[in-house]
Amino acid sequence: MWDKRSTAQQAKDQEAALRVQLVDAVGPFSPFWRERFKALGTTARKAAADLTQVAPVGERDVCPDGDPKGAAALVLQAGESGWALHAEGPRLRKALTSRLTRPGSYQAVVEADTRPTSFVFAGLGLRYPVASTRADLDVIARAGARLWQVLGLTRDDVVVAAMAPEASATYQGLQLAALGAGSPALFPGDDPDEVASALHLVPATVLALHTDTAADTLDDLDEAGAPLRTVTTVLLVGAPSDAERLAVAEGLTRVGISPRVLAVHVPEGHRLLWGECAEGTGLHTYPDLEVIQLVDPETGETNDGHGPDEVVVTQLGMRGSALLRWRTADLADSLETAVCRCGRTVPRLVGVRRHVLVPLLALRSGHRGVDLRGLAAALDGRADLADWRIVVGPSPRDDHDEVVVHIVASSGSEDDAADVAVAVARDVRSAAGLLPTQVVVNGPGELPDGDRISRRVHQRV
Ligand SMILES: [Zn+2]
Repeated sequence: MWDKRSTAQQAKDQEAALRVQLVDAVGPFSPFWRERFKALGTTARKAAADLTQVAPVGERDVCPDGDPKGAAALVLQAGESGWALHAEGPRLRKALTSRLTRPGSYQAVVEADTRPTSFVFAGLGLRYPVASTRADLDVIARAGARLWQVLGLTRDDVVVAAMAPEASATYQGLQLAALGAGSPALFPGDDPDEVASALHLVPATVLALHTDTAADTLDDLDEAGAPLRTVTTVLLVGAPSDAERLAVAEGLTRVGISPRVLAVHVPEGHRLLWGECAEGTGLHTYPDLEVIQLVDPETGETNDGHGPDEVVVTQLGMRGSALLRWRTADLADSLETAVCRCGRTVPRLVGVRRHVLVPLLALRSGHRGVDLRGLAAALDGRADLADWRIVVGPSPRDDHDEVVVHIVASSGSEDDAADVAVAVARDVRSAAGLLPTQVVVNGPGELPDGDRISRRVHQRV
């Protein structure tokens, strides 16, 4: 049973799988990590022994100039990078296989095609393709079958997804989950009339909705005369906030049904859908297919006790784009390892807030995802600053969002505070590709407070 192993068994299995993934796959065949290990003066074997020694990376580290081409270097390939359409399937397969001496189910996965054939798009500050091999799609479908178990669904359940078709891990993951679980699933798009027609055709028990539009979609479906009485489970796709759960609960009351409402989520860049067994129990993860860790979102360093923390994913067994210590830009309150009320022993992510570290801001220069981690990295640990805050949010003057950096120059700093402010603005621009709206020089104890995103990055209230 994948979900009932003891913590000790899980750790042992995970350790072995991690060693194979790093030493036999990512180390030799990921152009990005091959270079990175060399630059860090470490090896895949050492990294596998203690993952926390490997600084986590996100989309901006892989594509430093914002060019999505960089993401190709995450795809396992024997030769040079470039969008890995040309990856030498048979040659890479042979090389991978020859590195595996032990037989077992793992080898079967490796021997499946290693050529990337399927792509979805991901990214918050920039968009990049994520490559899957056929073996990867099998892993996604297998995880999807498990998701069904976590959600308490069976092959008798019939799914209708009111979602626009898109090349995303979410959309692909839901389709493959239904396939893996043997459930009929209809994806009629997001037009309310089309969804209503689909619901007239099949008595759906599961309605999948995008979290951010779920409440409105329920009203639209009701208006379109969609039969919703058979729906016993609503899947909120994209980790819902408390406010979004509340809005959906009110929407369900308006349309007159009272199904279970369960969250389903895949972090940006990853491909495995996580779900909760009951509302609020946390997203159940797959310890034999991924290593989930939490880091300080400002420094990328291991949990400093000042939550909330950023969710970091290491994939086990992926052969297309293979993520190692991947910063998802999602925050979580905690990673629970105690047994869940459903009896499962797998780690669960509690209090997940999706995408918060790369919010989509309506700046005067246009809409864009702003990577708050890059901004924080430009300020963290500077000798010329005693303290700082980043405050993002709507301008008091108009409808646009602003990114304001507040600084307190360190007393030992030789430079004039105005010079420090100029240096900060310049460094923020080079680290995050964005000039702050304003850099404000504060006296000690004068830093503003807002809603905390992380310790020193706040949302304007
Ligand atoms: Zn559970």
